[in-house]
Amino acid sequence: MAIKIYVDQGHGASVNAGAEGFGLYEQDITYMVGAYLSDILSSDYRFEVRTSRASIDANVGYNNSSSLRIRTSEANEWPADYFISIHCNANTNPNINGTEAYVYSSASSAYYLGESIVSEIVRRTGTKNNGVYQNPSLYVLRNTSMPAVLVELAYITNYEDSLKLRYDQYQFAYGIYAGLLDYLGLSPL
Ligand SMILES: [Zn+2]
Repeated sequence: MAIKIYVDQGHGASVNAGAEGFGLYEQDITYMVGAYLSDILSSDYRFEVRTSRASIDANVGYNNSSSLRIRTSEANEWPADYFISIHCNANTNPNINGTEAYVYSSASSAYYLGESIVSEIVRRTGTKNNGVYQNPSLYVLRNTSMPAVLVELAYITNYEDSLKLRYDQYQFAYGIYAGLLDYLGLSPL
């Protein structure tokens, strides 16, 4: 039985749009990294994958709340074994940088999956390791019935991170895949 991964490409083209920085739009980066991750997982027979967005121009839902509700319902109804939500971080302080992840509870398997994903992204892209935080208030973490990790790839508002988000999208995707393999105790094919 293949392990079912729901890849949630955060935000939408215009509905529930994300952060901006250095000419980049979060919703475009999350779409691309999720599309690469979907390609990587699809070529590994041990996984089955679904994504939340059909194209870079796609929206999910018609407002913020329906956008989030549709993603979690799709994952719950499938049902997925793991839910990975892809985002870019933003801060008013342009010096803040790095990769981090959020999980519903630090006493959970999702926490360890988050740690693996963050360290494999950091290994491949050279971002700073900001670790994993418990954040039970995030909708997609609160409303999913399987281990869920929200990954903040890097800060779109930090110049060095923005270059990585622009040019190293495949490496971010591969880092998430490698983190999954590491957590599951699987070897690369
Ligand atoms: Zn976001």
